[in-house]
Amino acid sequence: MLKLKSELSLPAVGLTGFETPLCEEEAAIQGVVHQFARDVLRPIGRELDKMTAAEVCAPGSPFWSVFEEAAKLGMTPDLLEQFEPAVAHRLESMIGEEMGWGDAGLAVSLTVMNFPLEMARAVGNQELVELCAGKIGCWMITHPDKGTDVGAFDMQREWPAGQPGNKGSMLARVGADEIVINGQCSAWVSNGAVAQVALGYLSADYGNGFLDENGRPHGVTVIIPLDLPGVSRGKPLEKIGQRALPQGEIYFDNVKVPKRFAVALQDEYYGNVASAWSFAGTHMGQVFTGVARAAFEMALHYCHERKQGGQLLIDHQLTRYRLGDMLRRVELCRAVARRSLAYARQSPSGHPWATASGKVTVTEEAEKVVTEAFRLFGGNGTTLEYPIEKLVRDVRAALIEDGENTMLTTRLGYLCQQLYAEGWTQG
Ligand SMILES: Cc1cc2nc3c(=O)[nH]c(=O)nc-3n(C[C@H](O)[C@H](O)[C@H](O)COP(=O)(O)OP(=O)(O)OC[C@H]3O[C@@H](n4cnc5c(N)ncnc54)[C@H](O)[C@@H]3O)c2cc1C
Repeated sequence: MLKLKSELSLPAVGLTGFETPLCEEEAAIQGVVHQFARDVLRPIGRELDKMTAAEVCAPGSPFWSVFEEAAKLGMTPDLLEQFEPAVAHRLESMIGEEMGWGDAGLAVSLTVMNFPLEMARAVGNQELVELCAGKIGCWMITHPDKGTDVGAFDMQREWPAGQPGNKGSMLARVGADEIVINGQCSAWVSNGAVAQVALGYLSADYGNGFLDENGRPHGVTVIIPLDLPGVSRGKPLEKIGQRALPQGEIYFDNVKVPKRFAVALQDEYYGNVASAWSFAGTHMGQVFTGVARAAFEMALHYCHERKQGGQLLIDHQLTRYRLGDMLRRVELCRAVARRSLAYARQSPSGHPWATASGKVTVTEEAEKVVTEAFRLFGGNGTTLEYPIEKLVRDVRAALIEDGENTMLTTRLGYLCQQLYAEGWTQG
């Protein structure tokens, strides 16, 4: 029904923009996470940004206190299960957005941290749940020789005919009782430099070679404790952005993992990759909605400080247009990120490329918002004095992180082709 106002008033607005009313629990959790993002993630993220990659990971670094502070929030993976799905999805989205608003690198670190535990819970393996609980985890799927190729599932459509698939640089031999791992993961694995446990995706030989008759690599998904003999690390990676997120190579020299630590063997492997990516890829949308919002807020504030043309920037019509354009893009990011998350959590059959379409839209829009905010700061934005320059560096990596955006969009196009072949849109 039409809602009538008796006088002209401003719209209802909250931390997350033009939001429908939050229930009591949502408002309380959002408030707590916002405070954590403002008082812990943002200042520590800025401090870590100025340190070398090795200093970030060193004992005594402020990086470690983030985990201690986060633990106090009590945001365990089962927190959301007590809410009905619509509330749970909005809460999950709001938590991710606040964290991204605080610091993108730390937000990614904190979300990836629980991924091995989430997988152990999903397969219902209590031994692995106990192994992963309370530990810093990572998701190890890309290798030096296998970046974009990790998403090539469909050999017929995606791979040059007759050419064997890409096994990558980290390989497993699966025996009767144990899995022996050799090689290395890519330097890009988030938390790779500090993780205690990995959720590993590897090409595997079950005794009949690494490739099936169509050239597609066999695979295994396995939880790997990273204190096993034969595990070593490279130097933490120096990057231009998300510097608070420790990344770096992990090497495996005849590392022996009990076979019962496998969560998907042989025929279950590609389904497991798809479920993991469909689930986890949603986080990028929430985190970079938060980054876009942070850039918008910084620009809005600056426009109320800086005078040019005889008046504050905010009083120029063109500047108001630019802020309006940024705000509508932040709202777009939020809407797409939430829809993508709800689909991934609730649909009976999600898909990585469906999740990835949300990630592409959000990160491309976030990059536009951050760039526009940076330009609104004029020359000041290019100095280290104003925090907007950090967001410019942080958002760049998001266009590649979790899959490079042009390739993810191409894969969405393959999905259109596949769905059309099944009759979609032809009714
Ligand atoms: C901040 C950050 C965090 C990350 N976190 C993780 C993590 O937690 N775990 C993990 O395993 N990995 C992680 N990654 C790795 C990330 O998934 C890869 O960097 C990404 O998938 C791209 O792979 P690549 O870097 O090897 O680039 P490449 O695959 O070598 O691509 C290089 C360029 O070639 C293009 N290209 C590639 N293939 C094709 C093709 N078939 N046709 C046309 N063009 C093509 C791409 O679009 C790209 O522009 C992270 C990366 C970053 C930057």
